[in-house]
Amino acid sequence: MSCDLRPHLKDYPLEELRVRFERAGVAPYRALQVHQWLYGRGVDDPHAMTDLGEDLRLRLASEWRTRALELEQLQRSTDGTLKGRLRAADGAIVEAVAIPEDDRTTLCISTQVGCPLACSFCATGALGFERNLSTAEIVDQLVRMRAVLDPGRRITNVVFMGMGEPLLNLPAVLRAVRILMHPKGFSFAGRRITVSTAGVVPRLRGLLEGAPVNLAVSLHATTDEVRDVLVPLNRRFPLGELMAELRSLEQVTPRRPVFFEYTLMRGVNDTLDDACRLVRLLQGLPSKVNVIPMNPHPDAPYRPPEPEVASRFLGELARAGLTVTLRRSRGADIDAACGQLAAREAVEVAAECSRP
Ligand code: SAH
Repeated sequence: MSCDLRPHLKDYPLEELRVRFERAGVAPYRALQVHQWLYGRGVDDPHAMTDLGEDLRLRLASEWRTRALELEQLQRSTDGTLKGRLRAADGAIVEAVAIPEDDRTTLCISTQVGCPLACSFCATGALGFERNLSTAEIVDQLVRMRAVLDPGRRITNVVFMGMGEPLLNLPAVLRAVRILMHPKGFSFAGRRITVSTAGVVPRLRGLLEGAPVNLAVSLHATTDEVRDVLVPLNRRFPLGELMAELRSLEQVTPRRPVFFEYTLMRGVNDTLDDACRLVRLLQGLPSKVNVIPMNPHPDAPYRPPEPEVASRFLGELARAGLTVTLRRSRGADIDAACGQLAAREAVEVAAECSRP
């Protein structure tokens, strides 16, 4: 447990920081300076914020927390993918993954320590749930990972697809998005940010009303029978309700389609009937389908399909007019690929320590 109850500078979007400063008797315009140091320049030691004046620097350093995460370990995949293991003040571990490509670098960030949804094919789900991340802990994943990218690389896209279910931590996620989008900080456009959900139906509208981001939905199955097993949340919010709610969202347009993630698992959801049902489910809804061959890991019995089966599945979707891409697996050699984030060593160590 961390007993430091001081407020955290990175928990507040600029407008809220201004109000906080004003209440504490600090000139509100100082909030913008601090914001620029924290996110524009990646400096979070108040003593180094040279344009603030000695008194304010001392006050910030004693009355506020400024760093939420420390980079404990950085692993580099043979394909250039970087996975950071980040430690919070209470010892909790989260992971963030930077994925460099030709023309962009995507950072995949976590929103919870563990995950309560227990999807049967996902390593994070097998961990169980510990707690929500704070806004500061979400934002600090960018600050820490940005600092270790190769020279000349910058984060161009952010996906909330790491550990956890973003819509079960919506207020912190929305504040983090506001910080990420502020022009005097990270300055990401909304279309560069994607929030992925397993389908927490009553929170979809709140997300899109709160932030102009892309919505991704982890679908993975076309019948309730199969989805109930893969994504147990489906028992509370079945496919019919999920699709009806998505169709009712006016923020979803051809320019801002829903991204559907579909993890292909051998003999589970990879038949031509599945493909046809998927076409029917998505009919008339602006959408893009991202097919991800299952990344195997020790906590799940599923395997990826044969390559011919995967391409037949994709071909069927494309023929029906869906926009579909096959996601290449990145970082699998360092357990950084989709569904493999589990802070594995930490868990093993913890299990050993608790042994009698
Ligand atoms: N809870 C949110 C955010 C996590 S996104 C959500 O479910 O959308 C993580 C993505 O990786 C999800 O689409 C998930 O279904 C996918 N995934 C999980 N385990 C996987 C695995 N073993 N192989 C491939 N994709 C996986």
